[in-house]
Amino acid sequence: SDSMNGVVKPRILLMGLRRSGKSSIQKVVFHKMSPSETLFLESTNKICREDVSSSSFVSFQIWDFPGQIDFFDPTFDYEMIFRGTGALIFVIDSQDNYVEALSRLHLTVTRAYKVNPDISFEVFIHKVDGLSDDHKIEKQRDIHKRTNTDLTDAGLEQIHLSFYLTSIYDHSIFEAFSKVVQKLIPQLPTLENLLNIFISNSGIEKAFLFDVGSKIYIATDSSPVDMQTYELCCDMIDVVIDISCIYGMPNVEAGLPHDKDSMAIIHLNNTTVIYLKEVTKFLAMVCFLRKESFARKGLIDYNFHCFKKAIQEVFDVRVKVQQTRKLLNQR
Ligand code: GDP
Repeated sequence: SDSMNGVVKPRILLMGLRRSGKSSIQKVVFHKMSPSETLFLESTNKICREDVSSSSFVSFQIWDFPGQIDFFDPTFDYEMIFRGTGALIFVIDSQDNYVEALSRLHLTVTRAYKVNPDISFEVFIHKVDGLSDDHKIEKQRDIHKRTNTDLTDAGLEQIHLSFYLTSIYDHSIFEAFSKVVQKLIPQLPTLENLLNIFISNSGIEKAFLFDVGSKIYIATDSSPVDMQTYELCCDMIDVVIDISCIYGMPNVEAGLPHDKDSMAIIHLNNTTVIYLKEVTKFLAMVCFLRKESFARKGLIDYNFHCFKKAIQEVFDVRVKVQQTRKLLNQR
């Protein structure tokens, strides 16, 4: 089912030439594989890999190019798939010659757009770990220019592509995925607003709402995100999961080592406290605050309780609206 715990899972398609890095991205982001292990990933001949992982907030499919994916093959119902897709991520290997990839990208985007103009098109310029900063910018500019020229030539300049520089060897892949997923959450402004209210009433400096399974943050308050803070959140989630796997009570029903009441506190030696609390089965809040503010933990917990209730309402309303729509459509 696409709806879990009141949360509707956004659907993402991950596409690109073979060996561009799609399986590695999936394994690193959603299955906690370490980047160096991906060197030994076997190249599969399956063209389409469905991710059935139930431990995360997003669901997605991977498609390889080239393969049997032939837009002219009548047995291949790409229209149905594009219709149900929220975001299409196209992965380009930046360490390789990307002429072929760009022509595939163009074909895919134009096809998908005709079926579903609401898809967000996201281009991951991937494996940039080997490139200098100047080189990265230059690659991005070149790819941007070429794709836009192709679209303009086809009379489709209204199609908007977003570009990200990514690598599985640092947090850039998680950041990019977070941004992609955030675009698919219609409640994002409400979530941001709730987070703003929560932090200002609790003396908290920064708060993120995380999908624990993937370490993607689906929302944060409106203060700017710095990479170091984000990396600390990811590290904290890893620690919490590792410790719960060893010492936690297995949550048999969900197959997860943590549950809706899980929480953790880490005191850093610079008087910062990181506080993690589970919001739903998949989502957790991670907050940064000063030691002095943490002294009023009772207040924070009370505000958190209100925040959690509000979040549940936000998602419940949406599910109800969707169910009603479905019923109406069935008539
Ligand atoms: P797929 O065919 O698109 O699923 O590609 P794979 O995931 O099998 O990746 C192909 C190769 O690229 C593997 O050897 C990976 O280790 C490597 N790779 C994937 N992502 C990165 C990255 O960000 N940087 C580098 N340097 N190599 C990567």
